[in-house]
Amino acid sequence: MVKVLVVEDDAQLVRALRINLEARKFEVATASDGNNALRLAAARKPDVIVLDLGLPDIDGIDVIKEVRRTSGVPILVLSARHTSEEKIRALDAGADDYVTKPFSMDELLARLRAAVRRVEIPAPAQEISMVSTDEFTVDLIAKKVSRGDRTVRLTPTEWHLLEILITNPGRLISQRKLLLDVWGPTYAEHTNYLRVYMAQLRRKLEADPSHPRYLITEPGMGYRFEG
Ligand code: CA
Repeated sequence: MVKVLVVEDDAQLVRALRINLEARKFEVATASDGNNALRLAAARKPDVIVLDLGLPDIDGIDVIKEVRRTSGVPILVLSARHTSEEKIRALDAGADDYVTKPFSMDELLARLRAAVRRVEIPAPAQEISMVSTDEFTVDLIAKKVSRGDRTVRLTPTEWHLLEILITNPGRLISQRKLLLDVWGPTYAEHTNYLRVYMAQLRRKLEADPSHPRYLITEPGMGYRFEG
């Protein structure tokens, strides 16, 4: 069973999360403040943490930083705060993804599955060999992309970017991570590169590049492949 630690001070939301998660065979522990969250995170070693940022005692961002000192457990943030700065701070502190309140239970569960999958498949690039959508197919072994019976030619940079996204389906990949992985540390701030290359990928892969269905932008944060 996948062990999830839910950290949230809204008792009604905790109840709803517990019912939905247990129905899907998660083993659920809950904490209503940051101190209990840190205690349970250390004692129970959850496989994934769902963390509200607005807690009564410790700021959620500080909970993330504290957990990250000793653990790489995936952290999915619940944020009622609408500013993207808050979400960026959470991602920079080490959160893996976020869901903005109010959220649908389906969305939360999809993000949770994506976060857990990342851990269960430590090297997804080697494990997944083929990714297919209604629009295009990517063969990760042969490094080939096709649309119908037509081969799509990608530059090495476009390929690298696409590979990271499609081997992490449903998961938000931060701009910073993409820039570091594809271009290297001196380019970590060059978000304009990402915009240019993502536009190229969409032109090659999406039916309607200005309304992408698969290569999704999370404004100010990063990108996500929806398979
Ligand atoms: Ca709260």
